[in-house]
Amino acid sequence: MPLDALLCKDSGCQKHNEELEVYYNDIVQSLDATAAECVLSVKSRVHKFWWTPELDELKQQCIDISTLWASIGRPRSGCINQERLRCKYQYKQAIKSAMQDIDRHFNDNLYEKLCKKDEVSFWRAWRKRFCGNSLKPTNTLNSKTGTDNVLFEFTEYYKGVAQPHNANKNANIASEVDLLMTADNIIMNYLGYQVTAEDVDKCISKMKLHKAAYLDNITSEHLRYGGPHLAVHLCLLFTSMMHHCFVPSEFCKGIILPLLKNKHGDATDINIDVQNISLYTC
Ligand SMILES: [Zn+2]
Repeated sequence: MPLDALLCKDSGCQKHNEELEVYYNDIVQSLDATAAECVLSVKSRVHKFWWTPELDELKQQCIDISTLWASIGRPRSGCINQERLRCKYQYKQAIKSAMQDIDRHFNDNLYEKLCKKDEVSFWRAWRKRFCGNSLKPTNTLNSKTGTDNVLFEFTEYYKGVAQPHNANKNANIASEVDLLMTADNIIMNYLGYQVTAEDVDKCISKMKLHKAAYLDNITSEHLRYGGPHLAVHLCLLFTSMMHHCFVPSEFCKGIILPLLKNKHGDATDINIDVQNISLYTC
């Protein structure tokens, strides 16, 4: 821990900014590495939600008989081989039947929604099943084709998002901030602030789960399940950040994700059907 930086109460001090930046990055890396080590991660849709205990039993039977069959030299005839083939067939048929059942259930569900004229639920279920991974990046944008040209169009368009609305606005805000920062009484007020572990705990408990991670890969779940020491590290970091009037460079970045307002809309015109969401660090 950067003790000098955490204990520093010097008014207007900037010499510990780098240490705070490193401390912040250490916390992020610890969370990421611990999660990678302790939490099993799998690709989406890898779980067969239609799997049943009966299929588990049939699978085990297959494994047992195949092991026995292998131990006697893998004969191509005889009762052990016949039993192995029977188990294998039964197992395959059961998987096929379970998949058909889930399809039938899905169709019945859609039919029911259609009968009730519940269009919203009907199309939501439809899109979840059939449209989830079907969207591909457009190869044409604003009449330009090819990946390089499309990327260029995106860059040119989104450059504007980071520009101030008028030329003097940035300079005015900067001078106002400078004025505040140089006022000793404001700095003194900042030095009096203290973020407690309870404050951090309270904020973490209010964070919504199942949200996208930022570039640092940290999600609300990392913070929620990061353990009691995490709140202590964060309260020390935040308190010292306020004393130094400093934020890590990652806090100043954001990712803009262009999303189609309508999945079946026109992806070739950035001005019509595209809205933006921005991701920032937790
Ligand atoms: Zn300092």
